[in-house]
Amino acid sequence: MISTASTVIIGGGVMGCSIAYNLASRGVTGILLLEQDVLGAGATGRSTALVHTHYSTQVLAGMAWHSLQVFRDFSEIVGSRCGFTETGHLVFAGRKDHDQTRARVALQQEAGIETTIIDQQEAGALTLGFDLDDCAAIVHEPLSGYADASGTTLAYATQARYLGVKTALRTSATELEITGGKVTGVLSSQGRISAERVIVAAGAWSSGLLEQCGVSLPLTVSRHEVAAFTRPSASISSLPGATDLVNQTYFRPEGTDLLLAGGGGPGEPVEDPLVYGHRPTQKSIESVWIRLANRIPMMEQTEYKNGFAGLYTSTPDRHPIIDQINGIEGLFVCAGFSGHGFKLAPAAGVTMAELVVDGQASTIDISPLRLSRFATGPNSKAGLLSESGDDIVI
Ligand SMILES: Cc1cc2nc3c(=O)[nH]c(=O)nc-3n(C[C@H](O)[C@H](O)[C@H](O)COP(=O)(O)OP(=O)(O)OC[C@H]3O[C@@H](n4cnc5c(N)ncnc54)[C@H](O)[C@@H]3O)c2cc1C
Repeated sequence: MISTASTVIIGGGVMGCSIAYNLASRGVTGILLLEQDVLGAGATGRSTALVHTHYSTQVLAGMAWHSLQVFRDFSEIVGSRCGFTETGHLVFAGRKDHDQTRARVALQQEAGIETTIIDQQEAGALTLGFDLDDCAAIVHEPLSGYADASGTTLAYATQARYLGVKTALRTSATELEITGGKVTGVLSSQGRISAERVIVAAGAWSSGLLEQCGVSLPLTVSRHEVAAFTRPSASISSLPGATDLVNQTYFRPEGTDLLLAGGGGPGEPVEDPLVYGHRPTQKSIESVWIRLANRIPMMEQTEYKNGFAGLYTSTPDRHPIIDQINGIEGLFVCAGFSGHGFKLAPAAGVTMAELVVDGQASTIDISPLRLSRFATGPNSKAGLLSESGDDIVI
């Protein structure tokens, strides 16, 4: 086991691997990535991996747009494949969400994102077999789609290894060593590693690790389910990805004959990220199925095939925390992606690398993602969420 590193990254999910790759690309040497299990074993390996840009704040829209372009040209930019499939993405909004949806699209267009509101006729051509009667606004992102979450993570990790990053699997960080206000190392299940810099990208485990050194992250962990159904007929063979605000569901095609769907809502709170039910319940399968059939009536005739559950690690404003910890030199955090982080991972890696190497991010202004935004109490949410608070969707 390596006993000295310049930089220890804790967590081998898509964030830790994207950060490792991006740091190494910037010329940082002596990077060690610790993963307590195997790469992608946390939320990443359970992600639906939708990749779109429908966000309500500049910072997330900017990260999503930057990331979409990386996903689309992943082989050229990163050097391995991420399994990106362009399906286009639609957002269905009812009367209640109409104004906010239009405002979000305007914000995205101002940021240069390719997205537009389309009419029922245009939408009809993209969504054969869909019932659109309840839609007051339909958003179309022609360039969006989905990727392979585990594949993307392995691609980043592989390229990071080519650039010299060492990876220790089945190795847990147990304690951060801070001496005189500086990071001096990490205690792990395989022994002590001396390091001048630690980046915590440990998903649901991030707050536990940072609590030990007096840093409190406002993260809550909840369980969310995804169900796979057969697709009913060739008429919906070219299914787009979609976020359905009316029925509180999202879905996308999987391979040639399946559809993956999940529901909105807060999920069930989870105390210990290692202990939660990995299979969807009958009740939730039925609930998502009914809501899916509201949008695609033919889904009534399909079959439930399989499903899984995973964890969201959420902040109060559902924006991640990407920051250097004040008062502890060399300590960084990248966590709290609130159930929608996969599509932001390329930008998270780039901006974290900039923060570490240059002292601040330049590709995207990530200052709204500082941990200190929570210090001033609930009002600090206002800058990042709309009044309804419902405007972050997968
Ligand atoms: C069901 C579901 C569907 C989703 N769908 C989408 C979607 O469609 N689109 C989208 O953009 N996002 C989606 N997400 C969210 C997305 O998957 C996450 O935001 C993203 O994967 C988070 O990545 P991460 O690297 O921060 O966390 P994780 O993938 O959880 O990685 C953290 C890693 O750290 C490791 N670790 C923890 N503690 C330690 C330690 N002490 N020592 C060493 N290693 C440690 C863990 O084992 C884990 O592998 C979904 C999530 C779920 C659960």
